[in-house]
Amino acid sequence: MLTETKSIAPPKRLLYGPGPSMAEPRVYEAMAGPLVGIRDPYFLELIQEIRAGLRQAFGTRNEMTFVVPASGSGAMEAAMANFVLPGSKVAIFAAGHFADRMTAMATRQRARVVRLERPWGEVFDAEEAAQFIERERPQVVAFVQAETSTGAYQSGRAIASAARQVDALVIADTVTSLGAMPVEMDEVGIDVAFSCSQKGLSCPAGLSPISLSPRAWAWLEKRPEEMSTWYLDLRLLEKYFDPPHVYHHTPAPPLYYAMYAALRAIEEEGLMRRWDRHFRAHQRLIAGLKQLGFEPLVKRSEDRIWHVTTVFPPAGVDEAQFRARLFERFNIEIAGGLGQLAGKILRIGTMGPLATDEHVDFLLDAMRQCL
Ligand SMILES: *Cc1c(COP(=O)(O)O)cnc(C)c1O
Repeated sequence: MLTETKSIAPPKRLLYGPGPSMAEPRVYEAMAGPLVGIRDPYFLELIQEIRAGLRQAFGTRNEMTFVVPASGSGAMEAAMANFVLPGSKVAIFAAGHFADRMTAMATRQRARVVRLERPWGEVFDAEEAAQFIERERPQVVAFVQAETSTGAYQSGRAIASAARQVDALVIADTVTSLGAMPVEMDEVGIDVAFSCSQKGLSCPAGLSPISLSPRAWAWLEKRPEEMSTWYLDLRLLEKYFDPPHVYHHTPAPPLYYAMYAALRAIEEEGLMRRWDRHFRAHQRLIAGLKQLGFEPLVKRSEDRIWHVTTVFPPAGVDEAQFRARLFERFNIEIAGGLGQLAGKILRIGTMGPLATDEHVDFLLDAMRQCL
């Protein structure tokens, strides 16, 4: 039997983690809109608006910009399944948990994966990136633009230009960067960028943006063999998003309403103003954290993700107990480390509505009280 106590009254948490992030009230309101059919003219128009908004956030003119009905990992899997052939060589820039996830997915596509590794928290310099790619001459190059497990950001410019020298396709994980930091897909030279909704875009999880350059799309149209996945076949997906809007899967309209509302908010604020707001919140947060005795994991400030700040706690502070105190006393959710950084660091997100002076100060004050 369903019980009265489990009625829909979820607690209101303050999501200061690296995702999921908080959504604006207008995003919540949008989700309550009426359900419509798969080919409702209203819905098909809304999808085109969303695609236009996503092109702006990605920094691209790519026609082939749409969404994968999944969380970010589903879009990552779509990128790997569509663009990696069995036996092809995939070069991965690996300095974190999500680069490892891409490695696992490329391996399942039976790729020959080669990795250039760096200690977690660092980024790759132009020279080593170029040398690695020249030496390996891969068919596909993959990197993580904002490595949420470490808090390190790299635009990928050097990686992409080296990849183009050997005619490799460039796949970028922009799951965390999209909506809060520069992705600049076209300028950087990324062929396939995938993302998610629940981080920089400040939506619920479930729809993951993906954008394909004309070069990537041309490659896909000539792909020599069928891929093993049907659901994530981007050519089939595209036939729904563009005329003739062939039924592929049943979309969840509230997630589209939410994404549209979030993209509208970004457009009204201005993408660059939004980046700047996240940058300023990060500056304020890191200064306050240092005062409290926290030590940044990413040493060089220019390598840091603005909206995911990673720090070692002060000596003697147990990170798990500290997080539990924040949660119990203030309803604040922050995250610990992943993989080799589990138990060692804290990951703090100041995304979307939380990237303001007031919200940073509120968090710092709560942290001070919980130390
Ligand atoms: C969160 C994240 C993912 C996975 O996204 P999910 O929505 O959790 O499936 C992949 N890559 C990066 C860099 C991420 O931060």
